[in-house]
Amino acid sequence: MTNLVEEALSDAPRVREVVHAAVAAARARAASGFREEAVGAGERSAMTHSWVITGGPGSGRMQVARAFAAGLECTDPETPGCGRCEACRAVMNGSHTDVKEFSTRNYAIQVNTVRDDIVPAVIQLPTVGRWRVVIVDNADRLTGKAADALLKTVEEPSKQSVVLFCAPSVDPQDFSVTLRSRCRHIYVPPPSVERIVRLLVREEGATEHDAALAAQASLRHIGRARLLVTDEGMQRRRARVLRLAELVNHGDVAFREVSALVAATKKEANELHAEEEAEEAEALRRSFGAGGRGKGVAKIAREAERAVKSLEDEQKRRHQRIHRDLIDLCLIDLSGLYRDAFLRAVDAPGEPVHPDFAELAGEVAEQVGAAGLADCLEAIGRCREHIKQNVSPQIALDGLLGRLRMAHGVR
Ligand SMILES: [Zn+2]
Repeated sequence: MTNLVEEALSDAPRVREVVHAAVAAARARAASGFREEAVGAGERSAMTHSWVITGGPGSGRMQVARAFAAGLECTDPETPGCGRCEACRAVMNGSHTDVKEFSTRNYAIQVNTVRDDIVPAVIQLPTVGRWRVVIVDNADRLTGKAADALLKTVEEPSKQSVVLFCAPSVDPQDFSVTLRSRCRHIYVPPPSVERIVRLLVREEGATEHDAALAAQASLRHIGRARLLVTDEGMQRRRARVLRLAELVNHGDVAFREVSALVAATKKEANELHAEEEAEEAEALRRSFGAGGRGKGVAKIAREAERAVKSLEDEQKRRHQRIHRDLIDLCLIDLSGLYRDAFLRAVDAPGEPVHPDFAELAGEVAEQVGAAGLADCLEAIGRCREHIKQNVSPQIALDGLLGRLRMAHGVR
């Protein structure tokens, strides 16, 4: 059996070093009965209670968090994080009693989630293992109030608790500055192509060729590479987006295609979690005792209506977020094609992002030239910024098309 713990750390020697040192220090601390005064200075600095693990989407930062947790819970006397013992296996598949994961699809992690769920999970004592580990994924979505509600827990943790936050980066817009100053930071670099190929071949039964193509085309984004080998819709969309570089030359067709793309991704975003969302609303209505009789019913009905309305608003914001994320993925794909063309135009070495669209990249390189391609790349980067700043996708993409057409020399 493959050691999933080692696999999660295999790409990043520095991450592995830090995690191993922390886990070893944690063992020493547990052996001393968690008496802080018995812990040496080296161990104190190697292991701490609060960590923030950062890496771009698809970097495998959650895998690193799980590997860390596995190291803490591992029962093998020789090799902490052995990957073979029951504890290691339970942590890696998300079923260990003392390791709690919080991840959200929501737009934000609200203060009540922190108070009702996360903080109680952190302060609980471990039951079977030595440590209580709480992993908070998408920590960039903690609202200011939610982050503040965590401060005390992070500052004065119980002796056997560890909190691992996962976020894209420690920039102020991605992670609370006050929490940041109380956490140790681990940066997870993007995974190597080889590692993604190993993963997709093993877990998805992909061929080496398809896996390598997906690893390149996704710009080494594990989740997206996985979708490219398993989800035909995703492959079709990628092809459609890349062909825009050709359609740019053909008047209105390109604008119509962009509109269709915006509509299709919007539909996808709205429908992605439709079932769970209907359940969510239904559960909320039930909690107000829908259909009751007697005094006060009208008042409760009004409150219920308000609550449902606010849930629907939240779901709408969630859809918009997913939609923006999908559009961003399209733009990353398109930017990969222009990057390939640029490398061709300036005769620079480098692996293409989209080897299966090499012919199109060659044509675009010839037509647009290096300077024009640099403009195209900049325009795509600017468009991604606009989308992040909540400009409507349709407007941002129409603007992008206009600039691409200029760079392509189309009137
Ligand atoms: Zn183990």
